[in-house]
Amino acid sequence: MSINIAVDGPAGAGKSSIAKRVSADMQIIYVDTGALYRTIALYVLRKGADPKNKDTVIPLLSEITVEPRFIGGEQRVFLNGEDVSGLIRTEEVSMATSTVSAIPEVRAFLLDLQRKIASENDVIMDGRDIGTVVLPDAQLKIFLTASDTARAERRHKELVEREGASAPSFDEVLRLVRERDAQDSGRKTSPLKMADDAVLADTSELDFEQSVELVKKLIRSRTGFSGGEG
Ligand code: C5P
Repeated sequence: MSINIAVDGPAGAGKSSIAKRVSADMQIIYVDTGALYRTIALYVLRKGADPKNKDTVIPLLSEITVEPRFIGGEQRVFLNGEDVSGLIRTEEVSMATSTVSAIPEVRAFLLDLQRKIASENDVIMDGRDIGTVVLPDAQLKIFLTASDTARAERRHKELVEREGASAPSFDEVLRLVRERDAQDSGRKTSPLKMADDAVLADTSELDFEQSVELVKKLIRSRTGFSGGEG
């Protein structure tokens, strides 16, 4: 049986950067499920459709193929054969993703794909409902969180590094983090919530290396899996 580690938590808690490093160190595949939802949102925006209007979003699903490919230990995501890995990382796509991912049909559309990847590979999979819905039998579930200001600070730093002077202000990033938290936690289908059997890991006071160590320690102690680290 493959090793499945579920990592859920709010935007900006460090899930993806931590999971990516753990994946490289322990030689398990890192699956970024947010990227799959983002790909759908990108398609909706490209079509000029309103992400809030489920009657226009749902019919578009039949036109979409979302395919993650794992190249050199890194996940790229393809939309109808086009590599959109870079294009899905804007704040506009983030907000649209949070909106379309509340539609039950959108979640159902991606469910089998996520489960199939996890059944065929040793994975650390990050998202919002991995421990609660996608992989209820994961050997380890981690709920990774941090205060909203700590998360906004990290996000803001990332955006400044990437976009320089055109990056949004800290206050704007904090506002978006709070808005996305409310939207992700308040929705009816698969809201962001900690699974009963998940371990809570708060990284507000931890730096990146300490957070990585914490997650690796949990994996070793709770699953006995030591991956590439022998
Ligand atoms: O993780 P990331 O920030 O890329 O996710 C973008 C958005 O996709 C989240 O705000 C959330 O609304 C949605 N998402 C989800 N379920 C997942 C992963 C992401 O609803 N498993």
